Amino acid sequence: MKCLLCKNTEFDQIAHSLRGGELINVKKCLKCGHVQLYPLPTEKEIQERYETAAVSIPQSEKKRLSDKEVFSLRDTIYNADLVSSLIPKGATVLDYGCGYGFFLKEMKKRKYNISGVDISTIRTAVAKKNASKIEIKQNLTDLSQKSFDCITAFHVLEHVRDPIGLLITLKSYLKPGGRLIIEVPNLDDHLISLVPEYKDFYWKIEHLSYFNAKTLAYCVRKAGLKLQKTFYYQRWDIFNLMNWVLRRAPQPPAEVVYFAERPKLISWLQNHYKEYLSKNKTADAVFMVIKS
Ligand SMILES: [Zn+2]
Repeated sequence: MKCLLCKNTEFDQIAHSLRGGELINVKKCLKCGHVQLYPLPTEKEIQERYETAAVSIPQSEKKRLSDKEVFSLRDTIYNADLVSSLIPKGATVLDYGCGYGFFLKEMKKRKYNISGVDISTIRTAVAKKNASKIEIKQNLTDLSQKSFDCITAFHVLEHVRDPIGLLITLKSYLKPGGRLIIEVPNLDDHLISLVPEYKDFYWKIEHLSYFNAKTLAYCVRKAGLKLQKTFYYQRWDIFNLMNWVLRRAPQPPAEVVYFAERPKLISWLQNHYKEYLSKNKTADAVFMVIKS
């Protein structure tokens, strides 16, 4: 077995099973500190996973799709605000791993020249209906190289077999001086050290890699890209923390939708919680702004 990032062959064993009880090892590289699954699923198994109904919403179920859109709204707006603060309107932006296209729709509304790519046939079909009149492809090779001012990849690198290779490929689709904005789950997430059950829940079959800022920066360097800025953001609510601490279980999705309305006191609590974690670098997501 070789480390996905540095090719070292010595590891610490971190866990023997994943969420749902599947017997796959989680190992930490003794050289670069990268955490990954072993054995890894094949490319074919990964592709198949994103073609099943369990992870993709059938087109007929409009209600479920709109629930999902509400559920993701805060994240969609956060991502769109972030890109809008860095990239001028009218620029060409590619969202790699565009899922159902919620971000594409929001960026089109904001007057960006947005395109999307997602490996899943079902998701791209849903995205095409959901975000009509936007270029959405299943393969990067359907697009022209060196044609984007900005490429976003929110929660993508942890799903792929070759994160450094993907960064190198994405780089070839950027215009000279173009920017790459990536987000991955943060292995330094505060809940991992706080709640043992959360740790058991954290390792999952879809996530081949578990990055923190250090291992993610290593990938950026190895891909020949320049890291401009690293920052942290807490995606999940303070109610998720409370659910884990009190009930040893995640926050139910219905609660997320309910609290999306944000009464004043709740907003205050949320903001302080999220700010604290971002400062401490222990929020659940880490972002990087990268230059080609
Ligand atoms: Zn390594």
